[in-house]
Amino acid sequence: MPLTDIAERIAAAEAGAGRPAGSVTLIAVSKVQPLERIEAVLDEGHRVFGENRVQEAASKWPGFRERFDGIDLHLIGPLQTNKARQAMELCDAIHSVDRPKLARTIARLAQEMGECPDLFIQINTGEEAQKAGVMPADADAFVAECRDLDLPVRGLMCIPPIDEEPSLHFALLAKIAKRNGLEGLSMGMSADFETAIALGATHVRVGSAIFGARTPPAG
Ligand SMILES: *Cc1c(COP(=O)(O)O)cnc(C)c1O
Repeated sequence: MPLTDIAERIAAAEAGAGRPAGSVTLIAVSKVQPLERIEAVLDEGHRVFGENRVQEAASKWPGFRERFDGIDLHLIGPLQTNKARQAMELCDAIHSVDRPKLARTIARLAQEMGECPDLFIQINTGEEAQKAGVMPADADAFVAECRDLDLPVRGLMCIPPIDEEPSLHFALLAKIAKRNGLEGLSMGMSADFETAIALGATHVRVGSAIFGARTPPAG
């Protein structure tokens, strides 16, 4: 679907929810996409992208940054502690802060580097064993812990279970953010970003609706 169509749908969802135009940031999720498709979206003027692997981000984005100004790169996938430095060097935001050890590592590196990407704390709203994220019951304590470390926590992120009504998860994330005084809500993907906007999303992460289906990586 053309980027302009997605932008129109976002604008309509903002208006429908009585929210100001431009209050939602579209993160174009470019993981596993061929470079020429990403370049086409850059050529259209879009600058905000999401990747879910540090390695993959490192292979694509330094090159694009040399050729395009103003790129805003968001890491939306799980982050291993030993890749934190590389992620912080490459990315402008990290949406997957989900455990104390990672938070402490980022805080130490931020001290050393003198800067830190914007951070979102991932909440496992569906309490799924295989999924990353802080359990809802532990969220308030973890937000407080990150604040004690002086981390720039901008908001919360969730990936709802695939077989459940996403609106329940979006509403839960919004509630946890509100009671912690956090503005940012990273929620909503290709199939449900309008629902997420209705429930307060500030960042939607849209991949396949923009780029088309992801061809699975070889191997
Ligand atoms: C891949 C991915 C998306 C985008 O998914 P689509 O359904 O293709 O829009 C969003 N968020 C995360 C965390 C992802 O890994």
